[in-house]
Amino acid sequence: MFAATLDTTIEYLKGVGPKRAELLQKELRIFTYDDLLNYFPFRYIDRTRFYKINELDTDLPYVQILGRITGKEQIGEKHKKRIVARLTDETGSIELVWFQSLKWVDENVSRGKVYIVFGKPTAFNGSFSISHPELESYPRPATITGNLRLQPVYNSTEKLKKFFLDSKGIQKLQTLVIEQLLPEVRESMPAYILDKYQMVTKKEALLSIHFPRDVKALKGAERRLKFEELFFIQLQLLHNKQIREWKFKGHQFNAVGEAVNTFYKEILPFELTGAQKRVVKEIRMDTQRGIQMNRLVQGDVGSGKTVVALMSMLLAIDNGYQACMMAPTEILARQHYESITSLLDGRLAKVAILTGSTTKKQRTKLHEELEAGEIDILVGTHALIEDKVVFKNLALVVIDEQHRFGVEQRAKLWRKNAVPPHILVMTATPIPRTLAMTLYGDLDVSVIDELPVGRKPIETRHLYEGQRLRMFGFMKNEIAKGRQVYVVYPLIKESEKLDLLHLEAGVEQMSYQFPRPDYQISIVHGKMSNADKQFEMQRFIEGKSQIMVATTVIEVGVNVPNASIMIIENAERFGLSQLHQLRGRVGRGAEQSYCILMSGNKLSADGRLRLDTMVKTNNGFEISEIDLQLRGPGDITGTQQSGVLELKLADLATDQLILQEARNTVINILEGDPKLELPENSLLKTYLNKRSIGIAFDKIS
Ligand code: ADP
Ligand code: MG
Repeated sequence: MFAATLDTTIEYLKGVGPKRAELLQKELRIFTYDDLLNYFPFRYIDRTRFYKINELDTDLPYVQILGRITGKEQIGEKHKKRIVARLTDETGSIELVWFQSLKWVDENVSRGKVYIVFGKPTAFNGSFSISHPELESYPRPATITGNLRLQPVYNSTEKLKKFFLDSKGIQKLQTLVIEQLLPEVRESMPAYILDKYQMVTKKEALLSIHFPRDVKALKGAERRLKFEELFFIQLQLLHNKQIREWKFKGHQFNAVGEAVNTFYKEILPFELTGAQKRVVKEIRMDTQRGIQMNRLVQGDVGSGKTVVALMSMLLAIDNGYQACMMAPTEILARQHYESITSLLDGRLAKVAILTGSTTKKQRTKLHEELEAGEIDILVGTHALIEDKVVFKNLALVVIDEQHRFGVEQRAKLWRKNAVPPHILVMTATPIPRTLAMTLYGDLDVSVIDELPVGRKPIETRHLYEGQRLRMFGFMKNEIAKGRQVYVVYPLIKESEKLDLLHLEAGVEQMSYQFPRPDYQISIVHGKMSNADKQFEMQRFIEGKSQIMVATTVIEVGVNVPNASIMIIENAERFGLSQLHQLRGRVGRGAEQSYCILMSGNKLSADGRLRLDTMVKTNNGFEISEIDLQLRGPGDITGTQQSGVLELKLADLATDQLILQEARNTVINILEGDPKLELPENSLLKTYLNKRSIGIAFDKIS
């Protein structure tokens, strides 16, 4: 017989074979024994509790009963054939029913014997039965699966279940692999780290995650495996960062010259906040090092990220370079272009814009000017990344609303120059710390945690449908004072049609409440052409309409300082960060601003928590943390495509401490042994060299 190793394909495991192997690969991406071993249960069932038959209740999920088989018969014909057995304890009896595997049941379930029966009870005509229960002989044998107090539950799929690879089936395979190959499992973490954090070995962790002796063993295994998972992500990220710093020289911005000074002293219409000053300084220090900068600027809506970006671009110009700024949508790019040109007041830099709607003629001219170095700052959309766009000497790229751009796009911008430009990434709204550390763990982070002084906090209220007339009354009052109002409807892809209906009904209601010619309403939604959208936006921006009814297309970046009221319809259907972003559209002018959250009367617990949170706080950092707790990292805007977040065990909402520990550990290791040359770190070096993503050590000169 051949000897399997952990790398052997799963097909050769007893009871698998080609068909199931194919399914395991397709459905669960399990190719080898090792993959299976690293396929962990997603929960455990407590098997310490035994129920008496007279305690059964249909509300119980799974129960465990100890009883004797007191009857067994096969009834029905053909496909209705089934085996019905009676299980009896001292308090009563129930039926056990099997429709499949009849031969096995016939041979293995014996009248008179005592079993531990496990399954979900259902009630019929006042008596209970369990279909397809699991049976274990009693007392339990002393194997790894025997005496299991916590029974693992594995995710399976319909297809796999058809081939008996339900949770129990997968557990059987795990048993085989563990019995055969657990001794072969190699340690993946250096011993001194295990010692330091008092973590169990890899072998022990794998055994206990699949077959926990008790809760303590399970916790120990989870902690070790979560640590490992986060540790290696951080190792990869920080290693990549280090390699980048070794490999790529950066443009050196030595001088603070005329552009920055004039802007700061003569043009800037306000005093920078302390946080803005600090971040500008961080960027200045970073761009003097001669190393390429990769920095994330986090700041709440309205914290003034644009000025920080602009000053960084002026710094590039002062040093003889060009800069560009990329936004995810045309509307946003245009807004940036306008705020930058108006901030600069026609002085200090030549600014241009490039988007999908730039005409061919304009483009040709623009390309020329760009290559000749006549344009200092180029603002635009994805169009900037195209190969045709060539700069004379691009030294700084600002990416706004990063989460909409992939890592690949970031990399593409890099390659625009022999010496890659500095990269400044700005998030639209704050993201939780753990998420930032994981998604952007290879970047340096600056935080603008202060709003400009004198800004009046937005007042947020939650109104129920029954209070709608109050809302209309409030709108009328504010409009009479000269203010403008946004009314936003949710747009959820699956039911776009329904959403549009809501919007149309809303518009109708608005037109009735706010008739022409006294009132003008603008409407913007995703199904309109860009030109129409632009036209309607423009009417609102110019104050020709007082009300803007929109779907979430206005979510990002729109800046109309006179609009001081944000009404969000069906607010319970929005996620927290989205609500916060929408609210950030108001509160940009001198007037007191309001956000009104309209909802139905019935709210889920989560829905209520979201709305309460919005009413309670304006702090985006706080909101993002609650959002993460509620939804988990996969659902936070824009993180979906990120492979980094396909974590097996660790949970960024609850494992902050482990993540921080793992990251600190990596930082310490790389500080003490940057090239991982010490023998005790050889495992880590091997790990990195095996990965194709990073840049291997041997390529470093
Ligand atoms: P965000 O961080 O959301 O991108 P912006 O950069 O658009 O914020 O800034 C929001 C508004 O605040 C803009 O009108 C901007 O001119 C203004 N602003 C920025 N910094 C300050 C400051 N230090 N003092 C006063 N107003 C500021
Ligand atoms: Mg912004």
